[in-house]
Amino acid sequence: MDYITLNNGVKMPQLGYGVYQTPVEDTERCVLDAIKIGYRSFDTAQAYGNEAGVGVAIAKSGLPREEFFITTKIWITNAGYEKAKASIEQSLKALQTDYIDLLLIHQPFGDYYGSYRAMEEAYEAGKVRAIGVSNFYPDRFLDIEHFAKIKPAVNQIETHVFQQQKVAKEYLQKYNTQIMSWGPLAEGRNDFFNNETLKEIGAKYGKSVAQVGLKFLLQNGVVIIPKSTHVERMEENFNLYDFELSAEDMKRIEELDTGNSVFFSHYDPATVEWFMSIL
Ligand code: NAD
Repeated sequence: MDYITLNNGVKMPQLGYGVYQTPVEDTERCVLDAIKIGYRSFDTAQAYGNEAGVGVAIAKSGLPREEFFITTKIWITNAGYEKAKASIEQSLKALQTDYIDLLLIHQPFGDYYGSYRAMEEAYEAGKVRAIGVSNFYPDRFLDIEHFAKIKPAVNQIETHVFQQQKVAKEYLQKYNTQIMSWGPLAEGRNDFFNNETLKEIGAKYGKSVAQVGLKFLLQNGVVIIPKSTHVERMEENFNLYDFELSAEDMKRIEELDTGNSVFFSHYDPATVEWFMSIL
């Protein structure tokens, strides 16, 4: 396992496990399976409704809390100083912990400046080891970066072979904020698992399409948290450290970049209206 050192010196595993869309009733089992395989970093969110499952699994694992790296995110219905502050306490409770390793603002909508202040306060109180944002594209990222007293340690954005986030990455690097991928397998969109280039490259190394796509991100310095509820796939997604993609293969994969989302654009007014409808 490789670790990334964040801008405040905190070390974070570069490979972790995400639980978006993992049913509440399956989360404990999935996280316990993942722990057995060797995962120690877990990504959840208030909006996923399964923080408690992550907390129970970690408690049941019998391993010391310090071995784990837990990320959660403040949802937009909890945006604003007071609500965000209360929601941090709720997340701590649900996760059965007295500190969160990484706390992110899930979406750049609502009074997220108030949320950021509440996160800074929690950070200073030792309830959170690192704070950051998610889905903040360069326009909003630069604004909050400028505003923040405690600079965002991480920005979690859609990143995979078809959307390599070249522009966002340039600005994150400039301000020393770590890029963390969501959807590292593009959730299978764009026929990811049948991609001919990834298949051909995988055949050379005796690796699957998933492993090649994930390794590409690791070699590019991206933090990844692939999701699967199946033990064999969790293992597959974890076994990434016994091969290295050549410079030539990295270049071929770089050419798969479309520069566009395979989900939705945060710049699209229809997307923003949809988020507003939740508030
Ligand atoms: P992902 O790209 O990790 O794809 C997961 C899907 O790919 C699985 O549901 C399964 O269908 C398939 N899959 C996984 N491993 C496979 C394998 N080895 N072979 C074949 N198929 C396989 O998608 P994701 O879950 O959206 O993203 C990962 C994590 O990122 C989430 O669980 C969550 O923690 C986080 N996330 C965050 C945001 C955000 O807005 N911040 C949004 C989406 C996801």
